[in-house]
Amino acid sequence: GGDRTPELPGTRTTCGYCGVGCSLDVLTGGDSVTAVLPARDGPVNRGHACVKGRFAHGFLRSPDRLTRPLLRRDGRLEPVSWEEALDHVARELRAAVAAGGPGAVAAISSARATNEENYLLQKFMRTVIGTNSVDNCSRLCHAPSAAGLTAAFGLPGGTDPFEDVESADCLLLVGANPVEAHPVVGARLLQRVLRGARLVVADPRAVGLARHADVHLRPRPGTNVALFHAMAHVMLAEGLIDEEFLRERSAGLPELTALLAGYSPERTAAVTGVPAADVVAAARLFGLAERPAILYGLGVTEHLHGTDGVRALSNLAILRGAVGTGRGFGVNPLRGQNNVQGASDMGALPDLLPGYGKVTDADARLRAERVWGVLVPPRPGLRIPEMFAAARSGELRALWILGEDVCATDPDSNQVVQALESCPLVICDELFLSETARRADVVLPAASWLEKDGTFVNFDRRFQRVRAALAPPGAARPDFEIIHAVAAALGADLGCATPAEALTECGRIAPVFAGLSHERLDREGAVPWPCRHPDRPGESSLYRERFATPDGLAHLSAAPYLPPGEEPDDRYPLVLVTGRRWAHYNSGGMTRRTDNLLLDPTDRLDVHPVDASRHRLGDGDRVTVRSRHGEAHLTVQVSDDMTPGQVFCAFHFPASGVNALTSDRGDAATSCPEYKVTAVRLLAGERA
Ligand code: SF4
Repeated sequence: GGDRTPELPGTRTTCGYCGVGCSLDVLTGGDSVTAVLPARDGPVNRGHACVKGRFAHGFLRSPDRLTRPLLRRDGRLEPVSWEEALDHVARELRAAVAAGGPGAVAAISSARATNEENYLLQKFMRTVIGTNSVDNCSRLCHAPSAAGLTAAFGLPGGTDPFEDVESADCLLLVGANPVEAHPVVGARLLQRVLRGARLVVADPRAVGLARHADVHLRPRPGTNVALFHAMAHVMLAEGLIDEEFLRERSAGLPELTALLAGYSPERTAAVTGVPAADVVAAARLFGLAERPAILYGLGVTEHLHGTDGVRALSNLAILRGAVGTGRGFGVNPLRGQNNVQGASDMGALPDLLPGYGKVTDADARLRAERVWGVLVPPRPGLRIPEMFAAARSGELRALWILGEDVCATDPDSNQVVQALESCPLVICDELFLSETARRADVVLPAASWLEKDGTFVNFDRRFQRVRAALAPPGAARPDFEIIHAVAAALGADLGCATPAEALTECGRIAPVFAGLSHERLDREGAVPWPCRHPDRPGESSLYRERFATPDGLAHLSAAPYLPPGEEPDDRYPLVLVTGRRWAHYNSGGMTRRTDNLLLDPTDRLDVHPVDASRHRLGDGDRVTVRSRHGEAHLTVQVSDDMTPGQVFCAFHFPASGVNALTSDRGDAATSCPEYKVTAVRLLAGERA
């Protein structure tokens, strides 16, 4: 008995796993987390959380945590002091610039890190090194969203706040499996469907929500554009469009109408594999709805024509007048990583400054130059795939990687490994000795999301506070401090001594963030951007008056369907699609070091029963998967969720080598890799 002191509310922070942005209260005892409680007043999660955010915190005190800097000497990584590590980094960065100029240095920032860390790293690269070669892993996932949504509507984010799905009467869910990848969103979508909203799912697999769908469209991977055009064809033919909206607020209808003449559902069926009747049913559900909603995931973006896919999908919302009008939920990407929106918002991109001013635009540069006091280079820097190519060719002499396990998660991993081995200086901030850190020359021990301060931006553009519940172990430090320390070792002072100052400084460069501050977020909770003034609310529903395009109109796209980069053939007859599973997160660096490993102990290859029997494979068999780029070794899971001719696996266990299979061929507009279409064959007889 006795009195119990209520421990609540602990430290209020924002989940560091997926982009839903659940608010969590973290309770601690000693140097450990004792419980993570989903916050009832969390604006997105409202008392919910998933198996990752709620339980996957055991990695914090894993014996594998890096607690000291490591430096490669005679081929081996050895523990050293911070002073030694920083001296080495400064000396080698100076040597790289002396030998190849500022362009010989590049950095991969992180969609897992805070906004303030992303802001500081791009500032370091632009002002101390003097190059725009800084990128983040949205390059590998939602860069086509940024490009496609900007071209269609003007801003590189989703158009409406998630709570608006509560009033949506038809949900169009495309290329996303929120039940596993964004579980809190998945649960809320399911609740909405159970309360009466109609549901159209477009996904080659029978993803979790597909069994609740009114129509499940199963396009061949890589044929989205043809599918969306076929739906648009039906909407136009049957008058399921908002003519007044199209007349007054859109551009491009004549061109699109001309193009769509060739995209009848009957004709496209040969390309997409989707029966015409299903396309008609889906188009009618969407077109007749009062308040339709579009939510989509990486199944739209990670294609050779991912930006075209985002635009063709946006066409449906424009045709229906379901964006910028309050009569629908617009077009909204489900972001994979906790801060994939924020990393780009902060300018960790080779062509864009904080707030999306172009580096090629003298006025945008001037806004940054006035604040930073130095000239910003006017030429765009290297994108991530270009960084690896430059490393392989010897042009890139130093690469700083902020906590991305690029050897596990980037496509065509054999080429990535070669790039790191060719680069004279690879610096890696990490929690663990990842596949990438193992190949680095200097490894700097970093703090996790539960051990640092700052902000993240979630999938519907909300800035939310991140607060340290614990101190990092040993000599590990937040990236914010590490970036400052590297700059100081080079004799530079980056200013903005605290994360709060960094966000405020960013707002001085980027008008869309000018109204944001830590102090305001502490007072008000979440605030969406654009937020232009400290006294005015952020804008959660966009474009009510006008679109943010130069002419103020929503732009329809008349880009034709083009085939994917990979096609199956006799040698590689199956199509591999990759994605995420419920218990794990990306390369699994964190979740594999928690009890979630018991829930899901290995990567598996989902194979349809027809393909399984053709290959004489059963559940639990080991199989070698070979593509035109490499091979991987996986355990078979026979699954009715698959379409015959397609196989699926996640990439949570680097030892499986899944990304040795994928190609680095990418979207023309953004270089986003074609992760969703890889031709493979199964070698059943070959045991791993
Ligand atoms: Fe974290 Fe996403 Fe799960 Fe929410 S849904 S707890 S943000 S992983």
